[in-house]
Amino acid sequence: MSNSTETLRFRSTRPPVIDSAALNELLVISQSLFSDTEEATEQLSEVVSLIAWLDVDSEALIRKSARLLFERAEARGPQAVATQANQPFFRLLPIERFTLVAVTLLHWSYSQVLSVLEPTLKGEANLQELLWSTRLQLAYAPESQVFLKRKMPQGLIHPSGSSISGAHCPEYLALRPWPQRLIDRGYVGKEKAFLESHVLRCSTCSKAVERTRVLIYAVQSILDAAGLKSPEEVARKIESRVVRRIARAEISLIDRSGVAAVRTLGDALSIFIRRPIGQFFVFALSAWAVIWVVYLLG
Ligand SMILES: [Zn+2]
Repeated sequence: MSNSTETLRFRSTRPPVIDSAALNELLVISQSLFSDTEEATEQLSEVVSLIAWLDVDSEALIRKSARLLFERAEARGPQAVATQANQPFFRLLPIERFTLVAVTLLHWSYSQVLSVLEPTLKGEANLQELLWSTRLQLAYAPESQVFLKRKMPQGLIHPSGSSISGAHCPEYLALRPWPQRLIDRGYVGKEKAFLESHVLRCSTCSKAVERTRVLIYAVQSILDAAGLKSPEEVARKIESRVVRRIARAEISLIDRSGVAAVRTLGDALSIFIRRPIGQFFVFALSAWAVIWVVYLLG
C-alpha cells in the first residue's frame, strides 16, 4: 500500500450529516468560483460527496471541500467563469474571488482562509496584500464605478494614510494598511485595544479607518449585488440535491472498494435494491411472481 492511502483515513460507517450552514457557506464559495449556478451546484455536490468519505470532522470537511473546489476552478481556468465574463467580479482570479468572498461575505478569519489556501498563499502578510489589491481592483473597475455612483453619490476617496502622522500612530503600509486588518477583525487582545483607543483620539488615523470602511462596504455591496448568496429556498433545494448525491456516492463506494461495512444480508439487500439494477431485479421478480400466480390459478 502506498503512503498516501495510509495517511488518508476513510470512514467505515455512513458519512456524517453535513449541517446546512456549512453547506450554504460552501455554496457561496462554489458560486464565486464557477459563474454558472448549475455548474457551481454540480461541482459542490461532487466535492462534498467525495470529502464526506474522509474520516474528518465537519470543520475539516468545509476546509477540504473548499480547497478542492478552489483547485477545480483553477484547473478549469477561464471556462469556469465564461458565462459571466463581463462582470468585474468574475474577471478576478480564483484566489482573489475566494479570499474576498470568504472574508467579506462569510466573515472567515484570516487564519481560516489561510488554512484552506496556505500551500498557494503563504503567510498573513501576503493574504492582506491580496485582499487589499483585490478590493481596490473591484471597486475601481468601470462597471463598479457606475454601480457605486447610484449607491453613494459622494464617491470613493482612495484610502491612504497621512504623511503627518503622530508619534503614536501605527505604521501605514500602502500595500496592506492596518485599517483593513482592523475592520476584518484581524487584531486581537492588546493590539486591538491599542488601535481602537488610538483611533478615538487621533483624527488622522480615524480618517484612514473611515475611508477604508467606505471602500470595504462598497466592495461588499458589489458582492451582494452579484447574487452569490442564494435565497433560503434555493439553498435548501441545492442542499437536498447534495444530500442525494452523497447517498448515491455511498452506494458506489461500497461497490468499488468494499470500504463500508455491509453487515447483514438486510443491509446488502437494501443497498442492492436502491441501485437501478436492483430495482429492475425486484421488478422482474414481482412480474415473474404475478405471472406464476396467474398461471397457477388458471
Ligand atoms: Zn494616529
